[in-house]
Amino acid sequence: MSKPNIVVLGAGYGGLTTAVNLKKTVGTQNANIILVNKNDYHYETTWLHEVAAGTISPQRASYAIEDVIGSGVIFKKETVTNIDVAARKIETDAGELTYDYLVIGLGFEGETFGITGLKEHALSLADLNQARRVREHIEQQFVSWTKDAVKDDTKLTIVVGGAGFTGIELLGELANRVPEICAEFNIPTEKVRIICVEAAPTVLPGFDEELVTFAKNYLSSKGVEFSIGTPVVEATAAGVKIKTGEDTFDFIEAGTVIWAAGVRGNSLIESSGIENNRARIMVEQDLRAPGFDDVFIVGDCSVFLNPETERPYPPTAQIAMQQAVTIAKNIQHLLNNEPTEGFVYSDKGAVCSLGHSSAIGAPFGKKVVGKPAAALKKVVDNRALLLIGGPTLVAKKGKFKLF
Ligand code: FAD
Ligand code: NAD
Repeated sequence: MSKPNIVVLGAGYGGLTTAVNLKKTVGTQNANIILVNKNDYHYETTWLHEVAAGTISPQRASYAIEDVIGSGVIFKKETVTNIDVAARKIETDAGELTYDYLVIGLGFEGETFGITGLKEHALSLADLNQARRVREHIEQQFVSWTKDAVKDDTKLTIVVGGAGFTGIELLGELANRVPEICAEFNIPTEKVRIICVEAAPTVLPGFDEELVTFAKNYLSSKGVEFSIGTPVVEATAAGVKIKTGEDTFDFIEAGTVIWAAGVRGNSLIESSGIENNRARIMVEQDLRAPGFDDVFIVGDCSVFLNPETERPYPPTAQIAMQQAVTIAKNIQHLLNNEPTEGFVYSDKGAVCSLGHSSAIGAPFGKKVVGKPAAALKKVVDNRALLLIGGPTLVAKKGKFKLF
């Protein structure tokens, strides 16, 4: 009898963890475990703010997928171009794939909410290459300023749209990196402005007030400016237009605009034939797509409701990796003709970095700030490496300088 095909799309936190766990639960002797990813490397999405600011290199934040999956799992470096669950067919830039079980883990894209000019004029942190472009763009702007006979200081202004976790973590890195770039190119640091524009009345809306205050004061002390309660309504080549009141607007001229104001699922979901909202699929308790017994969704392409609040859990690497473990078990159950298990999320809390040596966090509901939080953040990063690639990956890629 031929072995069933289990196809996993995407080798991010969700997809790669699924493949690694399928190897343990189902085993490559019992099924063809096929992992498809557009690059032959996995990048740490949770480190992209560091790549974008230039505090770490793109190589530091990535590793070869084959080093982690080892032998047995079939890896295909292909870009998925279409998902058709009715025909049980996946199209890629290299051909077609069929499956008995499908796991979709194609991650997120930046959400621009239809705001004029953002797609054309703003940079984002949605993948490793986009983060690399942010670093290059900032450096180009700074170098170009040094060469200009007539200096336009707004070239040295960096606007970050959105003060959620991504925006705040990016600001922390930029606040550390900008003085280094200034020293490198002999630019007076006071000429540089880093401005965060947030639509909500506070940074990190919904997070603990005391921790939010710590983060805002810390970043302000490092020169970051905040424009709060002022949504970006347009981006142009010259900067961003913000709404300051009922009928009042302002314009911030900037050489760099980085959009970090929210995420949606991978747009391939929208044409997959599965019911979705902003390319995210509300999954069943066992993480299957509604109406499709052979399709599981992992990570940022999924929406899973918190049973206590009946609101979706935020899309994070933490939940993606836990979902992956349940999906690997459930595929094994299905192959054994057993009932599937419901997913139960164990929320360990969030830690938000403010650059290398400070952070805020609420692990297991306990507040922590400053250096201890920064050290904890590295422990969290190392734990993710451990869960995916074991001690070898931690030794290779781990963060050991705690602050
Ligand atoms: P991803 O990790 O984004 O992986 C998707 C994969 O699919 C990628 O490998 C991509 O190359 C591949 N792919 C995409 N399109 C295609 C295609 N067409 N064909 C083939 N392959 C494709 N969460 C936390 O829990 N803790 C944190 O500290 C944290 N920090 C973050 C910091 C930043 C700067 C950002 C942006 C996010 C952070 N998050 C954090 C959120 C977290 O990174 C995401 O929730 C997580 O990456 C989702 O995992 P995923 O597997 O769904 O997608
Ligand atoms: P988010 O949706 O959490 O935050 C986006 C922010 O942008 C919000 O504060 C929102 O009010 C603001 N915004 C929206 N429209 C705007 C506009 N027009 N102008 C100005 N501001 C606007 O998105 P995110 O920060 O990218 O986070 C995405 C997911 O990744 C979340 O689930 C988050 O928890 C997770 N994440 C976690 C960590 C961590 O745990 N350390 C780090 C980064 C991201």
